[in-house]
Amino acid sequence: MKNIAVFGSTGSIGVQTLSVCSSHEELFHVAALIFGSNIEAGLCQIDLYHPEFVGVFDENAAKELHVLRPNINIVSGDAVWDIAGYDSIDIVVNGVIGFSGTFPLIKALEAGKAVALANKESVVCAGSLVRAAQAKGNGVILPVDSEQSAVFQCLAAGRRSDVSSLILTASGGAFRGYDRQRLAHVTPEMAMKHPTWSMGKKITVDSATLFNKGLEVMEAAFLFDMSVDDIRVLIHPQSIVHSMVEYADGSVIAQMSVPDMRLAIQYAMTYPVRVDCPAARLDLASCAGLTFEEPDRELFPAIGLAYRAVRTGGALPVAYNSANEVAVRRFIDGELGFLDIADCVAYVMDNIPQGDIPDMKTLLELDGEARRLAALFKADN
Ligand code: NDP
Ligand code: MG
Repeated sequence: MKNIAVFGSTGSIGVQTLSVCSSHEELFHVAALIFGSNIEAGLCQIDLYHPEFVGVFDENAAKELHVLRPNINIVSGDAVWDIAGYDSIDIVVNGVIGFSGTFPLIKALEAGKAVALANKESVVCAGSLVRAAQAKGNGVILPVDSEQSAVFQCLAAGRRSDVSSLILTASGGAFRGYDRQRLAHVTPEMAMKHPTWSMGKKITVDSATLFNKGLEVMEAAFLFDMSVDDIRVLIHPQSIVHSMVEYADGSVIAQMSVPDMRLAIQYAMTYPVRVDCPAARLDLASCAGLTFEEPDRELFPAIGLAYRAVRTGGALPVAYNSANEVAVRRFIDGELGFLDIADCVAYVMDNIPQGDIPDMKTLLELDGEARRLAALFKADN
């Protein structure tokens, strides 16, 4: 029996993680639930799973929860990240959204835990610090993001030295085939509907802009220690092939399933064992067809910007991620148009002071500067 800490338990990944835990009560015990401020959803989970530890990042929400459940010991504020390193935790599922996911990842790795990692913003922004945490505590990362899980599974087919490229698939988001004029009129409501996956708001918008794929190119470069020159992106609207690995002889290994995150979450939690999963089985005969095409990099600059960020390194990956987080928020709030999101990120990448990231203090300063610049960005810049 493994003790699981679910960071971001009230979100899309968190809820699906709990579904996996419920399907395998013989394997998993929900030992900790950590979320931001949604006490309504959090309370239902606490009453269902009775975890030993509860973390509510927002201090006011934590106080409200304490009034409702005075007997529960609730951790709040930055102390919630420490739960990732608690002795009794075996697996940390990191389903926190955004840059904040960096903190539980580093805590968990330093404490030698296995981390089922959905949060990609952390490895994009804090790559060198994450490597240092791994070296310090011997923690391991098991990918949850469906593309990275697919690559991870396809890598089992051959020797690492024989890999020639990684091919990440992308659904193409809600606006594949739109021209510039139509993209200019995309509303937040339109962008928050995904054609194949059901996910949180931010990643759904990121899928529509292809910033999600840009972040995943950087995530893959980090997780599999690959040069970005050997990572390709292909649009695959059916979301059946979750990614592929090409080997030296030209053989391409693909991982396929229905688009259901529980499969990737569960594999990260049971690795290297495979057990029955609550996700539906793939019925290839009933698929209308599987298609692949190159992304339109002019209309969707997010991918090109990601390659530039990772090739330059230093402050640019942080600028890319943190500016995107602010730009998405401003788009949802009606302050920026859909096409302005990429312009905002490019503006911040052009204006951020370049430099290395030797420690968390520098990282936090850079993140703050990227957010400041992104908040100042005006659409006609
Ligand atoms: P959601 O927005 O659905 O959920 C985010 C979760 O993080 C919520 O539980 C939220 O709590 C919690 N949270 C936010 N801020 C804090 C904080 N400061 N401290 C503690 N908890 C916090 O996001 P998703 O589940 O969609 O995505 C989570 C991560 O997984 C992202 O990095 C995303 O890129 C990645 N991912 C998601 C996929 C998906 O299918 N959804 C697929 C692949 C990767 P509250 O509800 O209280 O605000
Ligand atoms: Mg993904």
